[in-house]
Amino acid sequence: MIDHVISYGHQYINDEDVQAVVAALKSDYMTQGPRIGEFEKQFAEYLGCRYACMVSNGTAALHLCAMALDIQPGDKVITTPITFVASANGFRYQGAEIVFCDIDPKTFLMDLDKLETLLKAAPKGTYKAVVPVDFAGYPIDEERLRKMADDYDFAIVVDACHAPGGSFVDSKGEKQMVGNCKYADLTVFSFHPVKHIATGEGGAVTTNRKDLYDRVALYRTHGITKDPALLEKNDGGWYYEMQELGYNYRITEMQAALGMTQLARLDWSIQRRNEIARKYDEAFKGTIVKTPYRQEGITHAFHLYIIQVPADMRKGLYDHLRANKVYSQVLYIPAHTMPYYKRQGWKEGDMPVAEDYYKGCLALPMFPTLTEEEQDWVIAKVMEFFAV
Ligand SMILES: *Cc1c(COP(=O)(O)O)cnc(C)c1O
Repeated sequence: MIDHVISYGHQYINDEDVQAVVAALKSDYMTQGPRIGEFEKQFAEYLGCRYACMVSNGTAALHLCAMALDIQPGDKVITTPITFVASANGFRYQGAEIVFCDIDPKTFLMDLDKLETLLKAAPKGTYKAVVPVDFAGYPIDEERLRKMADDYDFAIVVDACHAPGGSFVDSKGEKQMVGNCKYADLTVFSFHPVKHIATGEGGAVTTNRKDLYDRVALYRTHGITKDPALLEKNDGGWYYEMQELGYNYRITEMQAALGMTQLARLDWSIQRRNEIARKYDEAFKGTIVKTPYRQEGITHAFHLYIIQVPADMRKGLYDHLRANKVYSQVLYIPAHTMPYYKRQGWKEGDMPVAEDYYKGCLALPMFPTLTEEEQDWVIAKVMEFFAV
């Protein structure tokens, strides 16, 4: 018998995290101190990329990518409808026209065949950027995207908010960590509490391109630089220049401290999440519940464990679980059906696979501290619903 709420995701904060935050609080810096740079270095090392820039949240990270790529009003940017709206919004802030590309019915990620059809139908250079999402933690085929990016001339910004610690194996048989930017131009992460690394609010941009990193870092801090190599003149030690119209998208020292202790547990988190996934897979085998697809060679980061049930049973199951303190979640309502994106010309019916996915999807509790007893309860309550 479970008498507490089991949510679809939950952060894990231990004594080590608390001590790291307290140490940051007692230090000389609350922001713009040494921990931010250290966290950037550790994160870049973990992923195997050259640069990481820590920012205030994942949405800011996406906006910074749009600015770094010099997205202008009217530029076309492609993303998936099955994502959190921020994937599109980050580019809308710069006035981009968002073009949605429907999803693959197996992985629920952007359908790269459909993407290729879109790209083929327009002159090369029509689309400035493509923003795939590693939805639920499943890494997109970045290698195939790279080939398309080279053929059709667009930038790849992977929204990997769901997939730190995920990886895939490329055609050379080499393991590629999500965010290492071997194939992508830029990758974006979020450190919101439901995500793998929880800093309250927080995010990161990773890249191997110095030009893009420099622009992301500049726009993160008001467009202000003190770099002597970049200054137009130099009046003395106090001198700085605001060279572009940037934002304050910084992260704090306390968040960076938390980020580092959380990063140290990321591998454990991925391992636990995969164990939990296998147990769900096993439990629902041969039932009406469809479990998440995965291909050989990928490491699924399992931010979410999403089942598919018949559309006419989804609401009943959601309510039944809720009545039993299991707070499952429906992720996501297709972005193109949001009133705002409808005003941009999108309508129901435009993305049939995504809309079909939405009708039957449900995210079950998935976080590394989910106990055996809790997971057994969740499974039992799902089974109970279908038994009656
Ligand atoms: C969480 C999330 C974001 C936004 O991150 P925030 O840190 O909440 O701003 C963007 N894209 C996806 C896919 C996300 O899940």
